[in-house]
Amino acid sequence: MPGALRFNFLGGRYNWAFHTEAEPHLGGRRLYQPRRRGLGGSSSINGMTYVRGHALDYERWVTEGATGWSYAEVLPYFKRMESHEIGDNPWHGGGGPVRIARVSAVHPINKAFLEAGEQAGYVRSDDLNGYRQESFGRFDVNVDRGVRASAAPTTRAARVAWEPGAMPWWMHKRGCAA
Ligand SMILES: Cc1cc2nc3c(=O)[nH]c(=O)nc-3n(C[C@H](O)[C@H](O)[C@H](O)COP(=O)(O)OP(=O)(O)OC[C@H]3O[C@@H](n4cnc5c(N)ncnc54)[C@H](O)[C@@H]3O)c2cc1C
Repeated sequence: MPGALRFNFLGGRYNWAFHTEAEPHLGGRRLYQPRRRGLGGSSSINGMTYVRGHALDYERWVTEGATGWSYAEVLPYFKRMESHEIGDNPWHGGGGPVRIARVSAVHPINKAFLEAGEQAGYVRSDDLNGYRQESFGRFDVNVDRGVRASAAPTTRAARVAWEPGAMPWWMHKRGCAA
């Protein structure tokens, strides 16, 4: 997680800081929903963890009626989307628009945690989005050579039309249109 995550998480000019309606199944509580304001949407303030979901979840969705959403059917799209630092392999793509890296900063506490998992008899995996997802290991992140890889460049390329309230603060300041 980026160290400054909490500053954007709590609100401010980069965050719409929404609240849900009162939730009847949560005793009427209204839940806080941070959402990024500006290009890239919440991918510009999120924790950057890249987890594609468990293969068996996709299989279950198919049995529940989601035709075309089996793991084998969605995998080619994930691969086409990714530009993973490990390059092309059966589970990952190396030439897509979304930059992915394996988390590299492993703190001694994280290292001890991974070792403890192994000592407790769990499997260690070198790819949590790959062939073995139920395991201990370093996860993938939306990071490109140490820098957050948000959806902003892709959004910009798509020439999205922005409403004034959705503009980044610096665009307001300069009075520009996106
Ligand atoms: C603090 C935080 C941490 C997270 N951590 C992770 C994580 O580690 N890993 C992960 O996979 N996911 C994480 N997520 C979730 C993930 O970021 C979102 O699910 C994802 O970004 C949603 O994408 P989206 O395009 O659906 O919506 P958003 O990214 O919310 O994009 C919506 C866009 O629409 C704009 N908009 C809103 N209203 C208007 C309007 N009226 N007119 C014009 N534009 C408007 C917004 O400004 C925004 O740019 C996190 C989210 C948050 C907030």
